[in-house]
Amino acid sequence: MNRHILHLDLDAFFVSVERVFNPQLRGKPVIVGGDPRGRGVVASASYEARTYGIRSAMPLAQAKKLCSHAVFIIARHARYQEFSEKVLNMLRRYAPVVEAASVDEFYLDMTGCDHLYGSIFAVATQIKADLRKKLGLPASIGLGSNKLIAKIAAALSKPEGLLWVFPGEEASILAPLPVAYLPGIGLHTQSRLQELGIRTIGELAQFPQPLLLTAFGKHGQQMNNRARGLCSRPVTEHREPKSLSREVTFNTDTIDPRTLEMVLCRLAEGVGYGIRRLGMAAGTVTIKLRYSDFQTISRSQSVPPTDDDVEIFQTAQALFKKAFSRRVRIRLLGVKLSNLLAKNPQGALFVPPEEIKKEQLHQSTDSIRERFGMEALHLGRALG
Ligand SMILES: [Mg+2]
Repeated sequence: MNRHILHLDLDAFFVSVERVFNPQLRGKPVIVGGDPRGRGVVASASYEARTYGIRSAMPLAQAKKLCSHAVFIIARHARYQEFSEKVLNMLRRYAPVVEAASVDEFYLDMTGCDHLYGSIFAVATQIKADLRKKLGLPASIGLGSNKLIAKIAAALSKPEGLLWVFPGEEASILAPLPVAYLPGIGLHTQSRLQELGIRTIGELAQFPQPLLLTAFGKHGQQMNNRARGLCSRPVTEHREPKSLSREVTFNTDTIDPRTLEMVLCRLAEGVGYGIRRLGMAAGTVTIKLRYSDFQTISRSQSVPPTDDDVEIFQTAQALFKKAFSRRVRIRLLGVKLSNLLAKNPQGALFVPPEEIKKEQLHQSTDSIRERFGMEALHLGRALG
């Protein structure tokens, strides 16, 4: 049986939400991210801004140089989250299973729904019109026989487009596209593929599999499957977060060990608080550091599952000491928790007393933070 998967991607989502609140921003180059004199990056750029070459994750200062008359706005994530939930609720009226893949991307499994709603193409048109009319948000939709095809179709149809890749047409649609259209192929893999003479998805699909396996191992097999348009991942309602991270770009690059340690501690507290709110524990701690020349390093360590600020900080600190090997100033620091699993204290028959103590401490620090904000309480070191 053919599956019918619909992928919906909201166009320039943060900018679109800002335009709902301030219609004067329509038709103008708008950049959400923050003050262009600061050191942040572009979180979302309107299509008018993109014509100047502005892209997501570009430093704001560079965006300002490319388009000096652009309107710069500080991101208001609570607002975007609220709109994202409204979109999700609206989509639930159209399909039994809706997956929120990110704040602005959704998958709907429409298999079998064509009898109920008429042509799937007509339904997609209706969804787009509904989003425009009721929420004021532009979106692009891709339709295809699996999630991979639907996602690429949506990307190809942007902005505010609609593209249906008919069953059997997958390979011919993918073949001419650059390999970067496939998920999991970053800049590094792209350049390695280029060394093998592979630039397009078609070339990747044709490339002898044994050679791809020799060069890339398991990832080679996965890339080959994707290049042939294969994907069996189901649309699932509940998506557990795979990781949780916080990072900070310094106002001024620094090499001062006290400052670095203090920031690392605050980042550890930030992710620790986040993971306890999720009711989960992490089996891997990762740190990321970026030097002032933009060389970026990350280091990971497996740990017994933890949600404790001190344990996270101590692991992060040890990783940092090993990773920070150059006498060069640091621009960015980050801490990430991954390998997450649910904590279930009710299920445990015996909880060691020190664990209970930790749990009580977490509950009291977290409740103080919820009332007075993250700044209210810090581990000794984070006070600097
Ligand atoms: Mg989007």
